[in-house]
Amino acid sequence: MRYISTRGSAPALGFEDVTLTGLASDGGLYVPEAWPSMSRDDIAALAGLSYVETAVRVMAPFVGDALTEDELRELCTQAYGRFSVDSVTPLVQLDHQQWLLELFHGPTLAFKDVALQLLGLLFEKFLSKRDTHVTIVGATSGDTGSAAIDAVAGRAKVDIFMLHPEGRVSDVQRRQMTTVLAPNVHNIAIKGSFDDAQALVKAMFADPDFSGRFALSAVNSINWARLMAQVVYYFYAAVRLGGPDRKIAFSVPTGNFGDVFAGYVAARMGLPIERLIVATNVNDILHRALSTGDYSAGTVVPTATPSMDIQVSSNFERLLFDLGGRDGAAMAEAMRQFDANRTLQLSNAQREGAAGLFSSARIDADSMSLAMRWAHERANQVIDPHSAVGLAAARAAGIAADVPVVTLATAHPAKFQDAVERATGVRPSLPTRVGALYEREERYDVLPATMEALTEYIGARATPRA
Ligand SMILES: *Cc1c(COP(=O)(O)O)cnc(C)c1O
Repeated sequence: MRYISTRGSAPALGFEDVTLTGLASDGGLYVPEAWPSMSRDDIAALAGLSYVETAVRVMAPFVGDALTEDELRELCTQAYGRFSVDSVTPLVQLDHQQWLLELFHGPTLAFKDVALQLLGLLFEKFLSKRDTHVTIVGATSGDTGSAAIDAVAGRAKVDIFMLHPEGRVSDVQRRQMTTVLAPNVHNIAIKGSFDDAQALVKAMFADPDFSGRFALSAVNSINWARLMAQVVYYFYAAVRLGGPDRKIAFSVPTGNFGDVFAGYVAARMGLPIERLIVATNVNDILHRALSTGDYSAGTVVPTATPSMDIQVSSNFERLLFDLGGRDGAAMAEAMRQFDANRTLQLSNAQREGAAGLFSSARIDADSMSLAMRWAHERANQVIDPHSAVGLAAARAAGIAADVPVVTLATAHPAKFQDAVERATGVRPSLPTRVGALYEREERYDVLPATMEALTEYIGARATPRA
C-alpha cells in the first residue's frame, strides 16, 4: 500500500515511512492511494473473532508488506494485552436503541490508547531495523499526550516532546503526562491554547532547518497509523450488533476529526454505516462546516470537554481531499488560504459528499450534563463529559428506531471527576491500574507560545539525525 499527501507534492511513501513521519513534507496529511475494500462476506466473517483477530484483518491491507501477518498479530496481541478487559472495546446497552462503545480501558483511560499503544510498538519495530533516532513532537489537548507518553516512555531511539496548553487540561490528564520521569520524555506547558500549541508543532515540521537537523515525527491524529488502528473498532462494534446485514449509526465526540474520520474510512472500505454523527461542544467549527459549508475558525472557548476544545480540526483536510476529487494542488491552495484567512468554504461536491454520511450537532454544557444524568438514571452508567456530548448528539439525531446508535465513549469518567460529580452527584474513582497519580513527582517546563523558545528548548535536548 502506498500513501499520498493531501497537498499533492510530497513523495508517496509506504506504510513504514508514513508511520515514522506523520506529517507530509508539503504540510499535507497522508492518505492511502486507494481505499481497500472488504466484501460483505469478509465483514460477516469477522463475527465471533477476538479484537486482535479483527484488528489483523482490518489493518492488513493498510500495512501491506511492511509487516508479515504474524508480526502484525504479535504487535496487536501485545498492544491490546495491556487493556483491562478481554473484549478491549466492550459495548454497553443504554436503552433499546442507544449503545456505548467503551474505548477507555487502556493504560491512560482514554480512547487514544487504542491507537497509540500500537503506534509505540510500530515505532520500536521499524526503528530497530534502522540507524535513526526519532524526535516525536506533539501537541495535546489532554489525552493524546498521556497516551503517547505511555506508549513510548523508555523506548530506545525515541525522544518525545509533548506540548499542552498550560492550565487547560485536567489535573489527572496533566499528572498522567508529567509524572512519567523516563529520560526520553519531555513535557512542555505552553502559554496559550491547544490551537497555539498545534500551530507551533506544524510550524516546526514545516521549518526546513529544524526538520533537517532532527528526524521529526508526529503522533497526533495526523499520523495515519493512528487512524488505521481506530478503523478496527467500527467493524468490531458493527459486527456485534448485526452488521453487515444491519446498518449501524455512530455518534463520535469530535475534536481533531481523527476518530470520526476512521469511521469514514470504515464506510469507504464497505462497512454499512447509517450515519456518522459528529458531536462537537460549543467549539463548533465542524458543526458549522457540515451544516452550512462554512469552515471558519473562531476563538477557542474552554469547556468541560477539553479534548474537544479545538477550532482547527486537522483531519478534516483528509475528508475534504477525498470528497473534492483528490486534487492535491487545489487542496494545497485551499489550505494556504485557510491559514491566511482562517476561513474556507466547502465546494458543492464536498458538501453533498459529506451530507450523504455525516450529521452533526453542537452540544452545550446543559445538554451535556443532561446526557450524563440520563445515562446515570436511565441505565446506571456513569459517563465522562466527552462521551456525554456524543450521547446527547446521538439522542438528538433522529435516527430510525430500528437502527442501533453507538456512541463512542472516549474517556473514563474518572479522568473528569469534578464535572461528572457536578452532573450526577457521583464521584468516579480512578481504577487502581492508574496508580498513585497524586503522590508522584511531576516534571515539566513552561514556555511562551513562540517558535524561538520552542526550537531552542528542543534543540538543546533532542538527538540530531545520524
Ligand atoms: C481526543 C479526544 C476526542 C476527540 O477525538 P478526535 O479524534 O480529535 O476528534 C474526544 N474525546 C476524548 C476523551 C479525546 O481524548
